[in-house]
Formats: sequence, C-alpha cells, structure tokens
Amino acid sequence: MSLDGSDALPFLPYGRQTIDEADIAAVVEALRSEYLTTGPRVGEFEQRLAARVGARFAVAVANGTAALHTAYFAAGVGLGDEVIVPALTFLATANAARYLGAEPVFADVDPETGIVTPESVARKLSPRTRVVAPVHLTGMPADLSPLAEVLAGSSAVLVEDAAHALGAEYRGSPIGCCNEALLAIFSFHPVKQLTTAEGGAITTNDAALDRRMRTFRSHGMVHDPAELTVAAPGPWYYEQQLLGYNYRITDLQCALGITQLGKLERFLERRRKLAALYDKLLEDLRGVSPVARQLPDRKSAYHLYSVLIDFALLGKSRAETMLALRQAKIGTQVHYIPVPAQPYYRARGSDPAAYPGARAYYERTLSLPLYPALEEHDVERVVTELRRVLGV
Ligand SMILES: *Cc1c(COP(=O)(O)O)cnc(C)c1O
Repeated sequence: MSLDGSDALPFLPYGRQTIDEADIAAVVEALRSEYLTTGPRVGEFEQRLAARVGARFAVAVANGTAALHTAYFAAGVGLGDEVIVPALTFLATANAARYLGAEPVFADVDPETGIVTPESVARKLSPRTRVVAPVHLTGMPADLSPLAEVLAGSSAVLVEDAAHALGAEYRGSPIGCCNEALLAIFSFHPVKQLTTAEGGAITTNDAALDRRMRTFRSHGMVHDPAELTVAAPGPWYYEQQLLGYNYRITDLQCALGITQLGKLERFLERRRKLAALYDKLLEDLRGVSPVARQLPDRKSAYHLYSVLIDFALLGKSRAETMLALRQAKIGTQVHYIPVPAQPYYRARGSDPAAYPGARAYYERTLSLPLYPALEEHDVERVVTELRRVLGV
C-alpha cells in the first residue's frame, strides 16, 4: 500500500541507489564533524576502494567525468592528440578528450555486446593516439589483453572507463587493478554499483601518476616542501605547478562511499541473481536476447540489464514499447545513442554511418530495471509486461 491508501504498483526505474539507515547515519556523523569537504573520510574511502580493486592507489574526485578528465591528463593527453573511444558510450568518455584540446577518434563496437573490438581500435591507431579508452558496457569487461596487444609498441596507453564495472573481473583479476591498463576510472552516480551522490575515482599502480592526479584535482597546487621548486619561506607556502581544477570530493560524499563500499559484495550478488532470473525468464521470448551473457574469462558487475530486441521482426517500435511499459509503471532506458551521431561531433566531422556495429546495437537495445532493492516478483512483472507489450 502506498501513502495515499491505494495499493497501486510501485514504479520501477531502470536503475537507482540503495540507501539504508547506516548510510544516513554515516553522512549525518560527517556533517557534525570538523570536516565537510576534504577530511579523513576522503583518504579512508580511497584506501578501501584501492584495496577492493587491487590497485596501489585510488584518487577520489567530484564525479566520473572529472575522473576521466583527470586520467586523460595524467596519461599525457594534450592539444592535438587523439583518444580512441567506443562509438557507443556515454558522452563523457569522448568529451573529456575535448577538455584537453584532444580529439576523440571513434572505434566501432561489437553489434551483439556493444563493447569496442580490438580490430576496430587497431584500425584507428595513429602516431597521435595518446590513449585508448575501452568502456566495460553494462558492467561486462572489454577484452583487455588483445587491446593491450594492439597498443604494444605504440606510445598509446590504456585507460579503462570502468564507470559501469566496479566489482567486475577480467581473467580472474578485478577491474581497476590496472593489470593491463595504466589507469581506470569509476563513477559513483546513483545508478552505478555504489553511490556517493556525485563522485568518481581513478585507480593506478603508478606513484608519480597518483601524485600528479592529486595536484590536478586541486588547482595544480603543491604544498609538500620536498616537491617545491624553491625552499619554502614558511608554512603557508604553496606553488601552482600545472593548470588544475577544483575536482575535490567532500567528506560527506566519502562517508556515504565508505558505508556503500561495505555493502558492495551484497549489491553485486543481488545484481547477479536478478540478472540470472531475467536470463531464465527471457529465454523463450521471441526476438528478445540479453546482452551480457557470461563469458568464461569475465565476470560482469551488471550495472545494466540490457536486452536486444528485434523490433523489425516483431513489428513494434521502440518508442511505443517504452511508452506502453511506462504506462505499466516500468521504466526503461536506451544506453546509448552513438556519440558520432551527436550534432556536436557531426559538426567536428564525424560520420555516424561509419559505425555499423554501434548503429545495429543502438537500434535494438533497451535497458530493463536492475538494482539491488528490486525483488524477484518485480523481475517477473517486468518480463510479463514485456511479453504482453511485444505480443510474444
Ligand atoms: C556514468 C558514466 C560516466 C560519467 O560519470 P559521472 O559520474 O556521471 O560524471 C562516464 N562514462 C560512462 C560509461 C558512464 O556510464
């Protein structure tokens, strides 16, 4: 029963946060403490995150987009450089290259998984490529070893956009441990595996990059006497050594991040269980197939439960399908519109027709509700309604 006394079914969004009383108490405690912005909780969150993903360092920042900007900067991206990104991703993967005066170069994706292929990256590699940024779409890791092989011998480095993939594994190693990549970035937006409201982080095993990113996060300022270019005349002294930003995350946000991280394994388990139920219930739906089928060498973190629907075969449009589901109180979303189709990138010369894999994936994809608090009967309801709406 809802508050107004009706027993109307609840609306199921495609994704949402899971917040409990312990999260709330932790934020309230931070609010009563000495530090609102950079304080002890930032470092604690960074250490716990680094430990979870098996990296030496984690740098927490204001959001996942700031994490991409910071990571590309640390990797040496500058004016006139190229950053290879998937044609199918969230805008930020490409935009962060533009922030540094670099140009995103789009590589096509596998039409069945939406994940960038090593072959398409190899075709786009040039002497100007500074970074290749694979995206672990829906939480399923991109094929990192072949990507690393493509880059071998070039001056380009791998930076993982792992915004979907906290808790995922590739060949037995956690995503973010930087076995294959120089840097990996995460987002803690409410729909992701854990939330700090807004927030992001970069993980790396490189101590010099860790320091450089901390400087970039706060205006390019350096306080440590050992790192100054002159002897410090006093304790107030600081130097600006590069052009940085205010990308700091707050202690309030990290208080939430710490309690959320403590629940990550439960959240992941719940996502995997619900995804397995979807897989089973969708098995006999004609024209509908799940995207992130488990591969033997990888473990998805199930950020999204996306399916591919053959709308042409079923004689339905995606727009009418989404609308009918919405009327049945089921939220869905499309991840993502190919970035080269965006007016901003078209105006810079990109041609969306050059990415048939991204287009084929985009035209069929739909993300169904998935989050830890979703219940088994909710999944059953989503599949029943999808069956009804599609007439299959
Ligand atoms: C969420 C997301 C980002 C950006 O994260 P924000 O925290 O929203 O700035 C970057 N890349 C991908 C693939 C994402 O899904």
